[in-house]
Amino acid sequence: MSKRIVVLGAGESGSGAAVLAKTKGLDVFVSDMSAIKDKYKKLLDSYQIAWEESTHTFDKILTADEVIKSPGIPDKAPIIQAIKEKKIPIISEIEFAGRYTSAKMVCITGSNGKTTTTLLTYHILKNAGLNVGLAGNVGRSLALQVATENFDYYVIELSSFQLDNMYRFKANIAILLNITPDHLDRYEYNMQNYINAKFRIVQNQTKEDAFIFWNDDPIISRELELVRPQARLYPFAQTKEKGAKAYTENHQIFIETSDMPFVMPEEELALRGTHNLFNSLAAGISAHLLDIRNEDIRAALSNFKGVEHRLEPVACVRGVTYINDSKATNVNSCWYALQSMNTPVVLILGGKDKGNDYTEIEQLVHDKVKAIVCMGVDNSKLHQFFDGKVGRITDASSMQEAVNQAYEIAEKGDTVLLSPCCASFDLFKSYEDRGEQFKACVRNL
Ligand code: ADP
Repeated sequence: MSKRIVVLGAGESGSGAAVLAKTKGLDVFVSDMSAIKDKYKKLLDSYQIAWEESTHTFDKILTADEVIKSPGIPDKAPIIQAIKEKKIPIISEIEFAGRYTSAKMVCITGSNGKTTTTLLTYHILKNAGLNVGLAGNVGRSLALQVATENFDYYVIELSSFQLDNMYRFKANIAILLNITPDHLDRYEYNMQNYINAKFRIVQNQTKEDAFIFWNDDPIISRELELVRPQARLYPFAQTKEKGAKAYTENHQIFIETSDMPFVMPEEELALRGTHNLFNSLAAGISAHLLDIRNEDIRAALSNFKGVEHRLEPVACVRGVTYINDSKATNVNSCWYALQSMNTPVVLILGGKDKGNDYTEIEQLVHDKVKAIVCMGVDNSKLHQFFDGKVGRITDASSMQEAVNQAYEIAEKGDTVLLSPCCASFDLFKSYEDRGEQFKACVRNL
């Protein structure tokens, strides 16, 4: 009898995993606690894969030899508890897909900057003519591509939730951009659990492989003392310092991973801000390690088009600039947004709190923010922290209200910044929905 695989969650990763399992001749069943999107139902049907939606039938699930869990399903879900009790192995879609390909894997994780760095790295590799796929949190699932394509390289964005259920998978090039508190609600409010998840990106690496990371991240540095990865280390830093293999000096970028160092003027980088310098350095190191020609790396780093909802300029209305940073769903990403501002700011904050500590942005708010618009179902935590610390603080319960209030407060030369520090699910479907609504409201001003 063939091995029985149960896939929990039929989104992009789950349905891709099911297709791959089926094409490998395994017995597959897909179960989703919510309604399955039509496009995934069609995909599953076209491969004659059995599925159920809006329920988990325990009897059918608990007969699995192995379970592939979508990253969105928390460990405390009753079905996961039951699977664990029966000691059925649980893996992620990426782990599963990795078994069936020998492509080189460039894997990117971190608390912030994953998507930007992933897309930038992909852009460089693709433009240099490599046969490369884009997978993970962005684009199509790795599993579906392994089932239906034949790429030599993959650039993969990995969240901590995907890493959680990875055991044997190996990244040939691993990038860890930074570690700051995020998703603590899913890690029992224990930061070390979250750090451990992120560090799974180096597990199984050998000295043939590369580990790229931010040299000045205090959490990464401390953890490196304990973990001691086998891979060759390629730290990057803002300016030249001991050990750094990529850095800036005299307004030039240097990447030194081979005898042919890469040099480029910093001002030619397409992406602005210190955080994006880090992202560009990380992407540049991985491209350099893959022997992409310096002129190709330089061209790609300078003609990259940026990513929607990440410090995205929307419009200038009556001398006020509006910036959509809806993807800033934690405090650290808002820190970088504020840090890159050079005008007074009206800051739209709020949403679903994930255990935030606003101390990190307190100084920048003090220095740059003239007013805060709290936009959420429950703004009490924001008031507790910021009341008395900014010139004005107002409440809005929709995007329209928030934009109207910001419009009234902002004066010529100011910037209205949507950089909420929080998840969007209280008032919006997603951070994309939040960003779209912001842009629509701004364009109607
Ligand atoms: P992720 O995929 O990790 O959520 P994104 O590239 O989507 O990262 O960016 C998320 C947010 O973090 C945006 O607000 C962006 O401006 C900010 N950001 C991007 N890169 C970094 C970085 N290296 N460090 C801190 N913040 C960053």
